[in-house]
Amino acid sequence: MKIRAIKFVDRDGEEYYRCPKCGRIFRKSRDYTRHVNRAHRRVKVQKQEAGEENPQ
Ligand SMILES: [Zn+2]
Repeated sequence: MKIRAIKFVDRDGEEYYRCPKCGRIFRKSRDYTRHVNRAHRRVKVQKQEAGEENPQ
């Protein structure tokens, strides 16, 4: 399940992507995607990950 960016354009005409989870703002969709992958990728698994070391 993907987390959709909140996309908006500021008054200078630049596009931004806002993370709906934590509110961080990114200028590039690539940066946003990378952020989600690192920070929010497995939201439902967070319980397990919190209880043990990273298996990888
Ligand atoms: Zn975020």
